[in-house]
Amino acid sequence: MNECRTGRPVSDGAEQLLGVIHPVHEYGQVELVDYLGADRTVARAARTSYQGDEGKNEEADRKLIRRLWVDKHTSPFEMVALTFRIRMPIFVMRQHVRHRTASLNEWSFRYSECPDMFYVPARDDVRSQSSTNKQMSGDPLTDDVSDKARTLIDGLNHQAYATYKKLIELGVAREQARVVLPVSAYTQIVWSIDMRNLLHYLRLRLAPDAQKEIRAYAEVMAMIVRQGWPMIWDAYSAAEENA
Ligand SMILES: Cc1cc2nc3c(=O)[nH]c(=O)nc-3n(C[C@H](O)[C@H](O)[C@H](O)COP(=O)(O)OP(=O)(O)OC[C@H]3O[C@@H](n4cnc5c(N)ncnc54)[C@H](O)[C@@H]3O)c2cc1C
Repeated sequence: MNECRTGRPVSDGAEQLLGVIHPVHEYGQVELVDYLGADRTVARAARTSYQGDEGKNEEADRKLIRRLWVDKHTSPFEMVALTFRIRMPIFVMRQHVRHRTASLNEWSFRYSECPDMFYVPARDDVRSQSSTNKQMSGDPLTDDVSDKARTLIDGLNHQAYATYKKLIELGVAREQARVVLPVSAYTQIVWSIDMRNLLHYLRLRLAPDAQKEIRAYAEVMAMIVRQGWPMIWDAYSAAEENA
């Protein structure tokens, strides 16, 4: 471990989370790989508005951060940033990348081969189509139907991967062989986003109408914010409760 000195605000909670891999479903992962700023960073940035001093104590910071979030004075929250490494199926990634205020770099299947890793819903999580909302799923299906659905999904994943490997063996370029891969294949990204926009992401992707699979990723990121930035989480969750 490097003994390095830093003059910048550090979050004890975030330090403990750095490098910890949180599993999501069978193959998914979320890891906090880097961050900038702590709760104090937001309060300190906000006090610049009136050239105020550092604040009396933690309680003063907590109150200020709550006030800022309620008043939608959101720019101080942009002074904090988080970088995650995330492994997710391509169908989740398609929803995830819609959040344009983040920066990302994705693993390229032009450079390296896609691994044999595909999403199959758990037996108790094969869901029916909602009868009231055209976009959403409804109740879980019976075990019998779930087993049939999982066999179909798993079979197609295997067939697609076997075809992919055959194309590679034939000498087809990786960038073309990948056209047979289903959206259940896993991809990996490094994803960097400031706290203001991460909280916006969480609001949308923790909501009951978000797809359950992306919600599982949002829940891990919410846990990370709660542990690493407790005052910011407190301000956000209090506002959500009152919404
Ligand atoms: C439940 C749910 C269902 C969805 N269904 C669909 C769907 O059927 N089809 C589909 O295509 N997408 C769908 N989406 C994606 C959705 O339309 C948004 O693209 C996504 O949620 C990102 O939200 P955002 O634009 O607020 O976030 P970000 O892209 O992170 O942007 C954050 C904020 O920045 C501002 N901003 C960003 N870009 C612009 C811009 N170009 N102009 C002005 N302001 C901007 C806005 O204030 C925005 O809220 C769905 C999302 C959810 C949560």
